[in-house]
Amino acid sequence: MDSDRLNTGINYGKLVDTFAKRFKDCHRMPLNTTTELPPGGWLYSQPLADGSAKAFKGMMPFGQFCSMVLAFRQANSLPGATGNQVMDDVDNFTCQRLGDDPRWCQKKTATSYPARLVNLGMDAVHAATLYSSGVKTLYDWGDEGFKPVGQEEAQSRSDVCTGRTTGHSCPYNQRAAFPLTGPVAEVIKAHVEKKNRLKLSVLGEDELHACRICRCDMKLKVWVPIELIKAQMTKQVLNDFKTLYENCWINEKQYE
Ligand code: SF4
Repeated sequence: MDSDRLNTGINYGKLVDTFAKRFKDCHRMPLNTTTELPPGGWLYSQPLADGSAKAFKGMMPFGQFCSMVLAFRQANSLPGATGNQVMDDVDNFTCQRLGDDPRWCQKKTATSYPARLVNLGMDAVHAATLYSSGVKTLYDWGDEGFKPVGQEEAQSRSDVCTGRTTGHSCPYNQRAAFPLTGPVAEVIKAHVEKKNRLKLSVLGEDELHACRICRCDMKLKVWVPIELIKAQMTKQVLNDFKTLYENCWINEKQYE
């Protein structure tokens, strides 16, 4: 089949580096100091797979508080289970909670990638790799002539993400907390337009958002053959799907 790769002007080879740099630009430690207790002490809200959150509160030293959060992440196989990631997350959370009060927080670095993005619990390189893999999957799909899976299969995948037929949507199917900008946003937009021209749609499509595990746009991904999806996924991401949401359609036996 002829390649139909959309000409989005992206240099895939540089994408990971570019993203890693941009993520690092906003991956800052905004508190002026972590040696003083901020107003109200240390607080942190750890998002959980079922959509709820585990609240932490402590009047102890910063490092000790972060160790508590880290131990919880490790014990529950949550993303971001490294000391540095937890410290960054607690730090960012605190400044957001304090409204970036200049008495406690440093001036923010101007960036199109808000700290919230990093605060979702993954390091910069991992996040950059996820977006890059998603783009490469879309390019591979174009190379295969945008051949979609069948309507029934796409609908079934979508229903798992949205919970249309069960009322239980996947907690990782989430609206972005901010608009994605830059080259990846352009690639996604171009491919969504292509999908629409091909008249590919499922019931409940408005409730299909981005997958928080792989960062892919699910309006597109439900149409992509599993071989192309898995070809670009790292073992870590495949494992995340298994451990974080075993009901995910990517874990289905037919796709093993
Ligand atoms: S792909 Fe899987 S983990 Fe991601 S939103 Fe859909 S069901 Fe959830």
